[in-house]
Amino acid sequence: MTTAIIIGGGMAGVACASELADHDVDVTLFDRHDYTQFQPLLYQVASSQLPAEDIARPLSTAFADQRRVVTVTAEVTGIDPATRTVVTKDGENAGESTVDYTADYLVIAAGSQANFFGVPGAAEHSYPLYTVEDARRLRQHLRDRLRRLSDPATAEPYTVIVCGGGPTGVETAGALAELFGALKDQGTLHAEATVRLVDHGHALLKPFTDKTHEYARAKLIEKGVQITFGVAVAAVQADTATLSDGSTVATDTVIWAGGISGPPIVSTTGLSLGHGGRIDVAADLTVPGNPGVFAVGDVANIPDGSGHALPQLGSVAQQSGKWAGKNIVAHRKGAPVTPFHYHDKGIMAMIGRNAAVSEIGKHRHHLEGPMAYVAWLGLHAVLLSGIHSQVDAFLNWADDYFHHDRAPDLELADSVGRIAWADSKADEPTL
Ligand SMILES: Cc1cc2nc3c(=O)[nH]c(=O)nc-3n(C[C@H](O)[C@H](O)[C@H](O)COP(=O)(O)OP(=O)(O)OC[C@H]3O[C@@H](n4cnc5c(N)ncnc54)[C@H](O)[C@@H]3O)c2cc1C
Repeated sequence: MTTAIIIGGGMAGVACASELADHDVDVTLFDRHDYTQFQPLLYQVASSQLPAEDIARPLSTAFADQRRVVTVTAEVTGIDPATRTVVTKDGENAGESTVDYTADYLVIAAGSQANFFGVPGAAEHSYPLYTVEDARRLRQHLRDRLRRLSDPATAEPYTVIVCGGGPTGVETAGALAELFGALKDQGTLHAEATVRLVDHGHALLKPFTDKTHEYARAKLIEKGVQITFGVAVAAVQADTATLSDGSTVATDTVIWAGGISGPPIVSTTGLSLGHGGRIDVAADLTVPGNPGVFAVGDVANIPDGSGHALPQLGSVAQQSGKWAGKNIVAHRKGAPVTPFHYHDKGIMAMIGRNAAVSEIGKHRHHLEGPMAYVAWLGLHAVLLSGIHSQVDAFLNWADDYFHHDRAPDLELADSVGRIAWADSKADEPTL
């Protein structure tokens, strides 16, 4: 019997567990939550376009047909790579008991966390967008603020600052500007609501080409987003943001899309961490000097073959998780492990309804509008298929979202435009 421990039930951990279970490896998969989440749609939850339940799936349901995968809801509090042991705090006995688990192989797939780069007050007062909890917290806050704006007695001008012009910042700014615009057109808002995106660089969607930078900028401006380049958020207070040019903005809503770093758990490993506080791995995804230990997905700096690391993307996470699984299976049979080969399908962003942008394949063929949306849909359906079998439901929802304007409703937003997963009790995560 071969055993493996996986830390993290995100795209990387789930892909790895499936691969191992298909090859008769007994897997114990740890996550602090009982669900796996689909991060690309977090901004839809934050902007009240989807309920959180629709982008999270219980791990036990995802692995219902894989009897070799045992999912454990627990916080991993320590990792000893030398013995491939993890220490956990049991979810039910948190703070009271710890349990150790050891296996033949250990796969670290613990994702990332928001990186506040030491900006004073950012951790306390801003709204990061990395987890379902983050998205729900922001959604609740925005709803409270918009309800105040919809009451003539309490309405006063409102500004949301989005910090960072990467995909998360651009998609969130676009979705919120659309929401504010639609509520204004309905006559629901009694004071101005503005989205302002600030970035210390000079382009949106930096990893994309110039053509896409310009497309994203033009689309956001068309939706009413104010964009300020060359300026960073320097400090965040409860009701003010201070920018690096010395100006201040009255706001209690700073959305932090400023970057990510390795998760706290990796600092317990004793491993020397690389760029971004992540684990440097060899080309075959092993952690050098630690036999039987792999790191995959966002937590790892995976060499891209030209001296850099692959980006923190869903497709990298999913493919690297699966590849680590294959290498473990090969290793236990005494066969050679192989360097990870990333199949780069491209990079994409949804700036709002009718405004997607895609750069396809390694050579970054630029697409915009409906064609880009089709590419976005294809890629996200593949990512989602790792956790959900009913990809059709996602395709129907996305089509409806992209092509039809829905009247926003602050009170009832949970019930509009849902993804029609076959709702069964087993599909309800504990949120
Ligand atoms: C807002 C947003 C939008 C994105 N949009 C896109 C997109 O459009 N396309 C794309 O390709 N990529 C996108 N990405 C990136 C993509 O989602 C990530 O690269 C991918 O999900 C990473 O998967 P992962 O499994 O490595 O990490 P995660 O999905 O973060 O999973 C890590 C898991 O580890 C668990 N964990 C961590 N520490 C512990 C611990 N100590 N104990 C127990 N459990 C622990 C966490 O709970 C989590 O479930 C987006 C990311 C974000 C944040």
